[in-house]
Amino acid sequence: MNPLEITAWAILAAGALGLAFIAFRQLATFRRDGDIFRGEIALLGEQLASIRATRSLSEKSSAPWNGVRKFQVTRKVPEKGDIYSYYLSPHDGKLPLPSFLPGQFLTFQLQINGKSVTRCYSLSDSPHPDYYRVSIKRCLAPRDQPDLPPGLASSHFHDVIAEGDILDVRAPNGGFSIDPSEGSPIVLSGSGVGLTPVLSMMNALVAAKSRRKTWFFYGVRNGSENMIADTVKQWRELNQPNFHIHICYSNPGPDDILGKDYDHRSRVGVDLFKQLLPSNNYDFYTCGPGPMMQAIRDGLIDWGVPEKHVHDEAFIAVKKSVDVAAASVEFKKSGKLLQVSGTATNLLDLASEEGVDIPSGCCAGSCGTCQIALLSGKVKYDSKPEFAIEAGCCLPCVCLPDGDLVLDA
Ligand SMILES: Cc1cc2nc3c(=O)[nH]c(=O)nc-3n(C[C@H](O)[C@H](O)[C@H](O)COP(=O)(O)OP(=O)(O)OC[C@H]3O[C@@H](n4cnc5c(N)ncnc54)[C@H](O)[C@@H]3O)c2cc1C
Repeated sequence: MNPLEITAWAILAAGALGLAFIAFRQLATFRRDGDIFRGEIALLGEQLASIRATRSLSEKSSAPWNGVRKFQVTRKVPEKGDIYSYYLSPHDGKLPLPSFLPGQFLTFQLQINGKSVTRCYSLSDSPHPDYYRVSIKRCLAPRDQPDLPPGLASSHFHDVIAEGDILDVRAPNGGFSIDPSEGSPIVLSGSGVGLTPVLSMMNALVAAKSRRKTWFFYGVRNGSENMIADTVKQWRELNQPNFHIHICYSNPGPDDILGKDYDHRSRVGVDLFKQLLPSNNYDFYTCGPGPMMQAIRDGLIDWGVPEKHVHDEAFIAVKKSVDVAAASVEFKKSGKLLQVSGTATNLLDLASEEGVDIPSGCCAGSCGTCQIALLSGKVKYDSKPEFAIEAGCCLPCVCLPDGDLVLDA
């Protein structure tokens, strides 16, 4: 071969090598893109499956009932932190149960010492076709008034209600809830027994294999109160990168190990959110003691979170005495007339002081037990109650007169 031929072959060989290299790169890219594409399709498939599963559960489930329905306690399970979980199945045996939105509660009508007592308890598990679960903490006397009797309904549940007992239960209700098939990023935080509604939310997201960016915070004093240690282990074993779980102990015990049993020696709060969350662009759901929720609400608003993205639920409404303008309140059925002035907590307390008995339940604007017809006049609410009040009615446990009133009580 002469030098010209050698050069020509060399150019040809280099060209062929170059082409082969380009082809190889293209193939690798196709493959990589293909993998990404297949990954995207798999992700979409999973999301569709989870939406279908959620939908099929609610389609298969029956409509909610009116009034009370009888439920049997099929299991009573002790949890940590002086809490019992109660598994409830319908006494009429009719399944599947009506579904509910995670975060909603059941209302119980109990008979305690011959007295009718109404209380709300959040559903603490995701929707299941054959049972509802609630988890109830014994409510002790306030620390500064130890001589007062302990909580009536929670003591009754702990000390009297046993497996096999029948309870009168109103259908799931409440606006502090999520739709598990939605995709917007959320932060769920619960402290103490305030865990229950956010536990239901988290369990529902886990059950739906949701791809929603979810941050879950749970605060208790220490391991002796952590009722979800095993559940958290199972969530973590799923290795779902969109679930971020943080357990906070404010006062860890000698056997509690940081990094194993808990993640932060602190309370749940906005300082922790600011440290951990990549932004404030989430819907925040909080349930816990009043001061904790108020601090989180104020902190989030300060941080620039729009109020519509801040959701919380109080188990026990903090009663505040506020100034009321002079007004007359007439209780038509009882034939009583009250002159209001100075300060007052709510219309229910005003009625009770006047000897007018209005049946009540949660005293937090959630259950609607105290709803009465407003015959004339207007009332005002500090914040919008969770219960959807019927037109022409009011919820005395969370409202005050706004001028003269006539009530059907
Ligand atoms: C929407 C909603 C969901 C809820 N979910 C849950 C849940 O999942 N789990 C849970 O455990 N709880 C939950 N609760 C709270 C629950 O409904 C009850 O409020 C709680 O169990 C206390 O009720 P009780 O009858 O035991 O106490 P109560 O008898 O109502 O007593 C409450 C407190 O008042 C004190 N007291 C007693 N007598 C007096 C007096 N004369 N003067 C002043 N104080 C007195 C008691 O010692 C006690 O500390 C929820 C509440 C709402 C509104």
